[in-house]
Amino acid sequence: MKAKIHPDYVEARVHCACGNSFETRATKSDLHVDICSACHPFFTGQQRIVDTAGRVERFTKRLQKSTAVQEQRSTTKKSKSKAPAAEPTA
Ligand SMILES: [Zn+2]
Repeated sequence: MKAKIHPDYVEARVHCACGNSFETRATKSDLHVDICSACHPFFTGQQRIVDTAGRVERFTKRLQKSTAVQEQRSTTKKSKSKAPAAEPTA
């Protein structure tokens, strides 16, 4: 092992946002994480959406916007397709 190029490998305390904390080893002695094995859906087996920085909210907003646009398009297409058929009679 080459000297003075490797970081210190120290005992670390990991604190999760869910309140769980555990000991491990790392190059930093104090770690703060958003998700851990105690609260991650994979380990809990629960269907739960992990929302980071309002991504789910942004997605639902975008979805609503796109469905509104699609509905508008479908209604305008119908009215356009009806318009030429109505013209010869008038
Ligand atoms: Zn956790």
